[in-house]
Amino acid sequence: MAGQSYAVIGMGRFGASVAQALYNMGYDVMVIDENEERIQDHINIATHAVQADSTDEQALREVGIRNFDVVVVAIGADIQASILTTLILKEMGVKMIVAKAQNERHGQVLYKVGADRVVFPERDMGLRLAHNLVSPNVLDFVELAEDYSIAEVAAPEKMDGKSLQELDIRAKFGVNVMAIKSGNSFNIAPSASDTIKEGDVLIVIGHNDDLKKFEEES
Ligand code: ADP
Repeated sequence: MAGQSYAVIGMGRFGASVAQALYNMGYDVMVIDENEERIQDHINIATHAVQADSTDEQALREVGIRNFDVVVVAIGADIQASILTTLILKEMGVKMIVAKAQNERHGQVLYKVGADRVVFPERDMGLRLAHNLVSPNVLDFVELAEDYSIAEVAAPEKMDGKSLQELDIRAKFGVNVMAIKSGNSFNIAPSASDTIKEGDVLIVIGHNDDLKKFEEES
């Protein structure tokens, strides 16, 4: 959303990457870390850089954390600090808290103490890489629920010039083509007669077992 302001707590590799990307897109970003050196290293990728311990409620109050639309808790190894920070942010009434989890259990606790969204960067990247290794045409893979996912699959040569009807992907594999990316254009409601070109990207949704079959065939 235009004009959104962000605060990122924890300038490890993940937090710094989130902050830098937001800053490059022109958003207001405040970064917080308890480590002075980390703050000095990241002063140029943020609108404000503040040294503070995020488990100290008073310190968060002083930096006006409540005024930010989204606060990202990117504290990695120190699970206790990540949980306590999330809890304090929730109690302070922060509108949107996104927290990074080290593992499933940590993620569950983060939701319990008030995170609106929990991300698992290592798990998700590992999942993507594994799918991409099995089939290099799989560009992205996002788990929706335990058994259902969305995959972005580059159309192989054998699909070139064929319509969705001819390919009959739903009947053959049980997966649904939700959208087709072709160069810069995006067809978000593909019809049966739409044809695929090699290199188009199909965004498909389905059961993991069916997606696996589709990926192997692609
Ligand atoms: P990554 O795995 O993304 O590299 P790290 O765990 O290495 O993450 O980095 C987390 C960062 O969070 C470190 O720079 C650390 O100084 C900072 N950090 C940890 N605890 C707190 C805290 N209570 N308040 C502020 N920053 C913290």
